Amino acid sequence: MHDIIDTHAHLYVVNDPDTVLRFCAAQGLSDLILPGVDRSSNKTHLELCCASVGKPWPRLHPALGLHPGNITTAQETEDCLGHIRDNLARAIAIGEIGLDYTYPAIRRDPGLQVLQREVFSSQLLLAADAGLPVIIHSRGAWRDCLQLTLAAGVSRAVFHWFSGPQDVLEDILSAGFLVSFSPALEFSAECRLAARIAPLERILLETDTPVAYPSAQGRRVPSTPVDIRRTLTALALLLEREQAEVLAVVNQNARNFFGISP
Ligand SMILES: [Zn+2]
Repeated sequence: MHDIIDTHAHLYVVNDPDTVLRFCAAQGLSDLILPGVDRSSNKTHLELCCASVGKPWPRLHPALGLHPGNITTAQETEDCLGHIRDNLARAIAIGEIGLDYTYPAIRRDPGLQVLQREVFSSQLLLAADAGLPVIIHSRGAWRDCLQLTLAAGVSRAVFHWFSGPQDVLEDILSAGFLVSFSPALEFSAECRLAARIAPLERILLETDTPVAYPSAQGRRVPSTPVDIRRTLTALALLLEREQAEVLAVVNQNARNFFGISP
């Protein structure tokens, strides 16, 4: 079985990471990128990386970020950003950061959009200064996410689980940025369209663990990183290309983007 990389797994939610990670390694996962969403998850991922030394686990790479859904008080935001700054040297990327205009609270209070943009921009600037790539959550705010990313001068960005409009996708690609897809590629018309338009050299694979995707029996079960094979299978079928050939390209994309050695 060929090695495979999951570029987006929120392992902090997994109750028994040792069992899950041993199974991941047995299933050929070589590397996992772990995006955090707040101070506590960033901390958990950093601790998991320390705990991974000498374990038969895939290599773990923490990304640090404050997710737009987790912006609370000014004090907590500053604490989280401070923790990210203090641990930048241990981060492979800044993420998961971004904007989400689909939250009901945003529709009630447009001021929250402004706050999301401020928090997103300050993390983009952190990434640009440190020369780190960014992992972007852009649901319902695709155009604003792209504009702020360009304005911050970030050189490497992936628009994770991209399901946005075609015109924004084209501008993301002409800016030299990437998009990633989850097992939702099996059924999401938006993702499938985007995956047909984006060149394979600009695509990363992810699970967004623990998001629950429908199983063959129709039940939704929480994902783990081994579900990355579902994403790969869906992409290869969609593009009508051999899985091994697709895998070789997307693995290389992930290594180049995050700076991971083979
Ligand atoms: Zn995520």
